[in-house]
Amino acid sequence: MSRVYNFSAGPAVLPESVLKQAADEMFEYRNSGMSVMEMSHRSTVYMDIIYEAEELFTKLMNIPSDYQVLFLQGGASLQFTMIPMNIMTANKKFDIIHTGLWTRKAIDDGAKLGTVNTIASSADRNFVYIPATDNLKPSKDADYLHICYNNTICGTKFTTLPDTGNIPIVADMSSCILSEEYDINRFGIIFAGAQKNIGPAGVTIVIIKKKLMKRAGKNLPAMLDFNVHAEKRSLYNTPPTYAIYIAKLVFEWLLNFGGVRAMEKQNRYKSSLLYDFIDNSKLFKGNVDREYRSLMNVTFSTGSKKMDTLFVKNAEKNALVNLAGHKSAGGLRASIYNAMPVEGVEKLIEFMKKFEMENL
Ligand code: PMP
Repeated sequence: MSRVYNFSAGPAVLPESVLKQAADEMFEYRNSGMSVMEMSHRSTVYMDIIYEAEELFTKLMNIPSDYQVLFLQGGASLQFTMIPMNIMTANKKFDIIHTGLWTRKAIDDGAKLGTVNTIASSADRNFVYIPATDNLKPSKDADYLHICYNNTICGTKFTTLPDTGNIPIVADMSSCILSEEYDINRFGIIFAGAQKNIGPAGVTIVIIKKKLMKRAGKNLPAMLDFNVHAEKRSLYNTPPTYAIYIAKLVFEWLLNFGGVRAMEKQNRYKSSLLYDFIDNSKLFKGNVDREYRSLMNVTFSTGSKKMDTLFVKNAEKNALVNLAGHKSAGGLRASIYNAMPVEGVEKLIEFMKKFEMENL
């Protein structure tokens, strides 16, 4: 059996040591006589797992005590509805910086519940940059400002945040959470689907300033009310128990690695190896303006659809898989999340060099 280097945008590569530990504990978790998958979510042995996952995550992200961490379901996509339902309550309006498909979806869902005001957009150049934030002012009556911190599809990321005064920033961090250090105090809500830097699909993490939870009206259905989940510490109903267990193992792995600061250093190194190679290549060209390049999703192309397809096919034969761009964007994309070892990026560059020599 041999593993490949998996550059998938998500569900994505997981640390090998985590997979091995999960395999070891699959049949019987510690001395419980059963697999984690078979446990009641109300058992002490499982509650220890979920509470520890929450604690480790809080430590890794340096989350202050006036924030609540929630493990939810419905994917990051449900947050496009759940967040406005809970916090778009004063003026029924939010602002957004439109940077691609993931903000498009937030706009479309948000517009069903209130007014969505696009204060800046990079649609004019097909989302290859992030609009400048220095002079950006949110509307005075916006309940919050929504951004997608790292656009998984285009390979862009924010490097600065606008000064929004009292208006909270809601950040979709699905594809960059735990990849670099963030000052949580700058955000009202951070949310992320797990299937990139956290663990398997099925769990969505929401970090919310407790004060904002008070904005929710009384008539929200229980499953859509942050307060209900917070009161029950993410155990209001059956949570995705196994996904949370794997997330806990990933958090332990990341702490052993040295935490988010050490991982950010490695992510900067990995992405610069790849961007430097692309910048010096005669065949490959990066898609995104340098300043806004993602550390996680490196998007590039040969400029020819046929050549891109050949690249993906040949890479696959060399155990380098999932390098095609998102169907809406085309081109090529290497997602190099935390669990992608430096060696994987080096192997990819080696292959790109060879491909360039053979095809230029
Ligand atoms: N936001 C971003 C930035 C994403 O990359 C994704 C999925 N790739 C989503 C939201 C949607 O996540 P989910 O599939 O978990 O609903």
